[in-house]
Amino acid sequence: MSDYKINISKRTILVVDDTLDNLRLLMEMLNAVGYKVIPAQSGVQALSMVQSISPDLILLDIIMPEIDGYEVCKQLKANEYSHDIPIIFISALDEVLDKVKAFSMGGVDYITKPFQVEEVIRRVETHLNLRNLQRHLQQKNEQLQEKNEQLQQEIIKRKQTEEELKRAKQVAELANCAKNTFLANMSHELRTPLNAILGFAQILNNDRNLTNQQKKGIQVIQYSGEHLLTLINDILDFSKIEAGKLKLMPIDFLLPEFLKKIADLFKIRAEQKGIEFFYEPLSQLPTVVYADEKRLRQVLLNLLSNAIKFTQKGQVSFKVNYQHFPNPSQEWHQGIIRFEVEDSGIGILAEHLETIFLPFQQVSEQAQIEGTGLGLPICKKLIKMMGGQLLVQSMLDVGSHFWFEIPLQKCHFSSPKNNQITSTIIGFNIKGKKESQKKEKKDFRILIVDEKWENRIILTHLLIPLGFNILEANNGQEALKKANEFCPDAILMDLKMPIMDGLECTRRLRQNDNFKKTCIIALSAKVLDYQEQGLEAGYNAFITKPLNINKFFQILAEHCPLEWIYDISQQTDNLQITTPVSEIIPPNIKQIKMLLKFANIGDVHEVTKTAEALLENNPHLQPFIQEVCQLAKNFKIRKLKRFLNQYLSEKEGAM
Ligand code: ADP
Repeated sequence: MSDYKINISKRTILVVDDTLDNLRLLMEMLNAVGYKVIPAQSGVQALSMVQSISPDLILLDIIMPEIDGYEVCKQLKANEYSHDIPIIFISALDEVLDKVKAFSMGGVDYITKPFQVEEVIRRVETHLNLRNLQRHLQQKNEQLQEKNEQLQQEIIKRKQTEEELKRAKQVAELANCAKNTFLANMSHELRTPLNAILGFAQILNNDRNLTNQQKKGIQVIQYSGEHLLTLINDILDFSKIEAGKLKLMPIDFLLPEFLKKIADLFKIRAEQKGIEFFYEPLSQLPTVVYADEKRLRQVLLNLLSNAIKFTQKGQVSFKVNYQHFPNPSQEWHQGIIRFEVEDSGIGILAEHLETIFLPFQQVSEQAQIEGTGLGLPICKKLIKMMGGQLLVQSMLDVGSHFWFEIPLQKCHFSSPKNNQITSTIIGFNIKGKKESQKKEKKDFRILIVDEKWENRIILTHLLIPLGFNILEANNGQEALKKANEFCPDAILMDLKMPIMDGLECTRRLRQNDNFKKTCIIALSAKVLDYQEQGLEAGYNAFITKPLNINKFFQILAEHCPLEWIYDISQQTDNLQITTPVSEIIPPNIKQIKMLLKFANIGDVHEVTKTAEALLENNPHLQPFIQEVCQLAKNFKIRKLKRFLNQYLSEKEGAM
């Protein structure tokens, strides 16, 4: 309260009394304390002065001629400029009713005459303080109200902005959606006639009656059509990536085969251009990897196409290096794979090294005829989605070097040579058939049930060359139908499938007498989740994905009446092969170092001798020794050293 105490000297008090003595007394008393006092001898006079002097407080007598104190008070309270001036009645009337009337007229206090000086002064001071406080509160209130209004306006504004943003976002989303739908429709619409154009161009191209000029014309049609198709696909991909709609679809696939096919394609293209092409796997590559095969191919094709396109002389090299994190106890490996595409072509100016990754940027004249300018931006984004980064180094007229590394989960090494499985096991016999029957045409039927074509193809790729009779089904329901017609001896069943999953399908098959004893092997990436239910449903065995090919053959032979036929010609002459299909287990560091010592000086005889000696006491080293002997026998010293060094560093890394 003390903060709001009045400064007396600045306060004006109007004293209204028709008795001069009273007036004088009150004036002296208040003056003495420091107030500025203005006297009025009648109500009329008081009313006429109030507006001009604007007093802070009025001491008002009640009984006066003409108009009395009550009337004065009433009029003052009715006026805007005076209604909040505190009025203290000061009167000889001492009845309760008088006091009630005084308060009801708007007075703040009532002092009876004769008064005590001290009492008047205290009451005046109290009411001035109260008024001051009231004003202060009022001010604060007004300020608060103002702030409140401002705040409310801000909230309204913010809400409006939010609404506008929301609307803008909706419009943008709609536009984006419309754009994507448009692009998807357009690409479909364009692809259909393009199919016809490209198809007939190829048919016409084979027509012998055409003149050379006509043939050339058709080739131009074909070439331009293909270019248009690339453009459509690129635009579609790019808009999908931009809209966040492109998702990677990892599958298990055979990596060495995948890379070899790509390399073969570019070897032909390079030959046609008169340049050299080298494909170099710099380390042993995993046999099966889990990645988005389609998108990885797209990236590699793009980088390699560019390298060939922008190289007129010299060479293009494609190098692949895999390093797995040392953890030999695990069935599946994790590692990093690095792809490098290097050319001796036209190169790229330093100032263009960033712009080439922006959409529709082509920095060489040649590119404008052949490319879309979308290849590298798409590659960059796809590689980023795969967890890597596309990098480039280039020098004008010297060449370019593009490379990237991506992490690989769940890699599998089934054998040192990627095709060893299929070349080691070359067929099968059905157990229990008499020797005389074995020459008859074998029929062992396997039904492969998997939603994903990419998964089925790995199995068909493995099984058809061995002579199995294969049928494929997309889901459980289709499998039930096909099983009845095909009567398979074994069923390879994926678990998670649309329409009818593998569990349900197996349950139903087991209810049918024809399939009570059929071997059903479940294949799933999530075996643990299904193991119990699966046993109930009636599986014979589980195989985890990605596929461990060795295990797969092993389990298949365990549950079906099958025995494998191995390709004996592939085996090292003086080695007894006991487990033709098996994992590589390397010897210890000391033994690897000994082999390396001879490999380093090129003594293949000593390498073979040492290796064979090792095998005598360690039959489990057979796959490792077999590889060493084979490389030594063929004088592949560099490869042999690389092979040994790789296992050495793996062993040392695991320590
Ligand atoms: P395009 O379809 O035009 O090749 P890209 O996005 O793949 O589109 O490449 C963009 C541009 O980067 C190319 O037009 C070319 O100018 C440059 N470029 C890409 N790769 C190479 C390379 N290996 N050598 C020289 N220039 C290259």
